Amino acid sequence: MSNVAYIYHPDCLHHDMGIGHPECPARFSSIEDQLIASNLFDFVRHHQAPEATREQLIRVHDKKYVNHVLSFENKQSEYLDPDTMITPQTPKAALRAAGALVMATELVMKKQAKAAFCNVRPPGHHAMHKQAMGFCFFNNVAVGAAHAIHHFGLRKVAVVDFDVHHGNGTEDIFRNEPRVLFCSSFEHPFYPFCGAETVKDHIINVPLTAGTGSDKFREAVLEHWIPALHKFEPQMIFISAGFDAHRDDDMSHVHLSERDYTWLTQELLVIADKFAEGRVVSTLEGGYELHSLGRSVAAHLRALMRLT
Ligand SMILES: [Zn+2]
Repeated sequence: MSNVAYIYHPDCLHHDMGIGHPECPARFSSIEDQLIASNLFDFVRHHQAPEATREQLIRVHDKKYVNHVLSFENKQSEYLDPDTMITPQTPKAALRAAGALVMATELVMKKQAKAAFCNVRPPGHHAMHKQAMGFCFFNNVAVGAAHAIHHFGLRKVAVVDFDVHHGNGTEDIFRNEPRVLFCSSFEHPFYPFCGAETVKDHIINVPLTAGTGSDKFREAVLEHWIPALHKFEPQMIFISAGFDAHRDDDMSHVHLSERDYTWLTQELLVIADKFAEGRVVSTLEGGYELHSLGRSVAAHLRALMRLT
């Protein structure tokens, strides 16, 4: 048994934006299937995510917005943006997804786990302070980072986002929060068409041109993120782990592989070991080609378990 926690909840499967929507419940199952096939599933510590509390959510979201999302438990489905449908099942799933990050933070801070991975949906990194966007409702990783700061009193927390889309929601929430170093890599120009212009010392945006492969991606990480992380000396590292930059995922035009996810995870563990007593919390963001998604999460988790 490893000391890595694996956090999920069945409520996350009940949020369904309709046939053909890429952010679908099958993503969850394809990850679990691959973890079982890779012989990793029995070696992580399983936990069911609690619901995030209102207090935990309003650290990063507008109160009225939180109430609006939660009110849909008793309403008809509605599109909050052209890609993002809220259904009566969405509030519970979103509460569990955000709650998973709170639990992961608690487990890691209390040394009940060395690291944690949250296999949850809906994803979170496009969710802004008071707006749902891009399949996201509550910004799960931001809820976790804010819990580390406000509940545990950490002064320096890094959030690393390697999803192929810019983590605009996380940037929006932490734009004026220098206790958070936010590192995001993303195809540009590409949805959500922002991030490349940001000028802030604690926001390290790395736009990638279409066609970027392993070599250029790793060069960019080594040039921009790693020095910034060393300088910042984070007490904890959160990862917005989106796997839609995989070469088999036609959501984007960036061509990474499982090996790149292993490599980056190991690079982040080196930083975590040096400055943060090894504390890493990772959560699923994007990744829509079900086969490469499963393989990529397995590679990422195997690295978090320090088996590679
Ligand atoms: Zn994405």
